[in-house]
Amino acid sequence: MIKLKYCYHTHTFRCGHASGLDEDYVINALKIGIKRLGFSDHVMLPGINQSGVRGHFSMKEDYLSSIRKLQEKYKDQIDIKVGFEAEYAERFTDYYRDLLSSGKTDYLILGQHFDFDRSDNPHYIKQYADNIPELYAYADQVINGMRSGLFKHVAHPDLFVTMFKKWNQDCEKVTRMIVKEAVALDIPLEINMHARRFWRNKAGNLIYPYEKFWAIAGQYPVKVVVGYDAHHPSEFDNELHFVNKLIAKYKLNFLEDYAI
Ligand SMILES: [Zn+2]
Ligand SMILES: [Zn+2]
Repeated sequence: MIKLKYCYHTHTFRCGHASGLDEDYVINALKIGIKRLGFSDHVMLPGINQSGVRGHFSMKEDYLSSIRKLQEKYKDQIDIKVGFEAEYAERFTDYYRDLLSSGKTDYLILGQHFDFDRSDNPHYIKQYADNIPELYAYADQVINGMRSGLFKHVAHPDLFVTMFKKWNQDCEKVTRMIVKEAVALDIPLEINMHARRFWRNKAGNLIYPYEKFWAIAGQYPVKVVVGYDAHHPSEFDNELHFVNKLIAKYKLNFLEDYAI
């Protein structure tokens, strides 16, 4: 049974689909023995308004300062970092670089929920039902994101399964593409704790973490981390059964400790 000492995937109410006080996430993380806690709310983007998906750009400073205050307040008990979960697109790279180089942001993780490159309106990956060219576009975006050097790890790399009701050969190919690149660049992949536990999946699409993805990952020496992807403080529980099963069954190279 693993015991998770870190979590670098945590949201706040600002994204519009998470709730709870920032401080309660810290308190609940402490209760389950987390020693390193990273906040990674959906990145606020200049000029892009996606209400209910990510906070308005005007909320960015409040987010950063709120987490910095908690970092200071709890510094003797837990190592807190502030970052963002962000999509890779060429047009955002300067903005992301500025976030990091300014020192206001400690880290970014890559969560490729939206395709920003193909249209000015962000397109949710999940809506590309059974669309094989878009599956490969997703893989390219994730690989380019990893190559950009901007991201510490890939959140839910198996997000693409939500485009499908059935796993297929292209899913397998894309899995190998992503995993091989992660090995080459030494970037960990995240087993995500949120979707499988909290999504109501009425359409019957596949959901992550998806076992076939991780079975293939187990064939490579890729580093694996776990993220709660908490959208409420109560999600910091110790219900790690599914994750334990994946790690043990496929002999995944799970990082017991991971510091950003
Ligand atoms: Zn979210
Ligand atoms: Zn995500």
